[in-house]
Amino acid sequence: MNRVVIVTGIPGTGKTTVCNELLELAEGTGRKVAVINFGTVMVELSRKRDKSLHRDELRKSKLSFQRDLQAKAAKVISQKAIDAEGDLIVDTHMSIKTLEGYWAGLPIPVLKLLNPEMLVLVEAEPLEVLSRRVKDPTRRRDKVLEDEVAEELLFSRLMAAACSVLTGASVKIVKNPSGKQVDAAKEVLRLLG
Ligand code: AMP
Ligand code: MG
Repeated sequence: MNRVVIVTGIPGTGKTTVCNELLELAEGTGRKVAVINFGTVMVELSRKRDKSLHRDELRKSKLSFQRDLQAKAAKVISQKAIDAEGDLIVDTHMSIKTLEGYWAGLPIPVLKLLNPEMLVLVEAEPLEVLSRRVKDPTRRRDKVLEDEVAEELLFSRLMAAACSVLTGASVKIVKNPSGKQVDAAKEVLRLLG
């Protein structure tokens, strides 16, 4: 199995943008890195069952349904980690804000399958996160307050700490202020060694 690095961030921190920049930078240096988006795998699996959901509606569906998709997605992704030619970056969430409260994106069975070496938290200031959520027309993101964003950021750190205890993986916080996504991607690439 190849090295698995988990890149997470609450919606609007720009983790997918950072992952895309990272892929480009890695290609430029000839380094083998693959990126897989956990949410995309879950959405694809849900479509197989004729349940066509917008990716931002997933977290509002029944928790039992989300749990089932999460477990199946983890299996698909762990197979990708075996088949990949280099490090596998998993673009995902430490915690998901469901209708029943915060829910772990990486509960023990998922951690066991993925066996991550490093956990990266992509973060931005709450006000910046809010303005990015409003500006992205492709997403259906809830309008929340600055305090709620701060709580989501805090909860992600708490989950990351728990995942670190369970796996022995390190936790690195990478700041992604507006316009600095290439610098953030360079930092993640440096972390890969
Ligand atoms: P994203 O495009 O990364 O914001 O992911 C879209 C959606 O996929 C999230 O809002 C969650 O509902 C779901 N998702 C992503 N990663 C996980 C995970 N590890 N566990 C459960 N759901 C996830
Ligand atoms: Mg994303």
